[in-house]
Amino acid sequence: MTDTLEKRHALVTGGSRGIGMAIVEKLLLENCDVWYLSRTPGEAVHLEEKANALHCTLSWVECDMADRTSVETALETVIKEAQSIDILVNNAGITRDGLIMRMKDEAWDAVLAVNLTGTFLTCRTVGRLMAKQRKGAIINTSSVVGIMGNAGQTNYAASKAGLIGFSKSLARELATRNVRVNVVAPGFIETSMTDVLPEALKENLSTQIPLGRIGNAEEVADAVCFLASMRASYITGQVLSVDGGMAM
Ligand code: NAP
Repeated sequence: MTDTLEKRHALVTGGSRGIGMAIVEKLLLENCDVWYLSRTPGEAVHLEEKANALHCTLSWVECDMADRTSVETALETVIKEAQSIDILVNNAGITRDGLIMRMKDEAWDAVLAVNLTGTFLTCRTVGRLMAKQRKGAIINTSSVVGIMGNAGQTNYAASKAGLIGFSKSLARELATRNVRVNVVAPGFIETSMTDVLPEALKENLSTQIPLGRIGNAEEVADAVCFLASMRASYITGQVLSVDGGMAM
């Protein structure tokens, strides 16, 4: 059984920065050809040089995960270019925090649209392709908040908990087609999503993390690459927390 991801075709949503960009980079280092979707090419364009040196494809396709037509068009483009997709990483995600008493419909709808409906749309199209291929690995990105809840994040927690039930159901649907579906649940990871938090809050959060520190994007990317690889060939329908021990 081969351990390598060499020449696998990988599709990553939200690959332009943060955790998604770290996943794109790690997949390139494992010699995958990578397509990533986001509204802007972002910092990940700088990975092009690395991709060329590794003789791998790195391709950005514009996509707004909140817009069904945009997602469908982007997936059509990727499938036309790639022909087959071996790895799908649903990483794009947003927050619109606020206590429920003050939460606007727009904040609820926006978070559910990108985090949950966006993942449904990519899984439906790519899942169909993987079922036909009789192989594939899907990794969806939840959060410690989807497991434990968090005041001020009812919309985000609903989307991230929803992804867990969604992924377990999909894992059961696709298992007979040799397609594995798993979830990573990051804790507090240093990216633009957490940069906006006040320094005092970050320090306070660190005290609630058994490993005593905020995590980094590469640590999540390592877990994703593991779940995508044949090292995880007998693992499906699981949630892998990458949170320094927060949820246990
Ligand atoms: P980030 O730095 O804010 O990056 C978010 C990514 O999603 C960007 O590439 C962004 O690209 C893309 N994105 C956002 N809205 C989009 C849309 N409408 N259409 C297409 N792409 C969109 O976030 P991150 O911290 O890396 O988080 C990545 C994932 O991990 C998210 O699902 C998040 O919920 C989850 N997570 C993060 C943490 C954490 O502490 N950071 C903890 C738990 C879970 P564009 O802006 O270019 O479109």
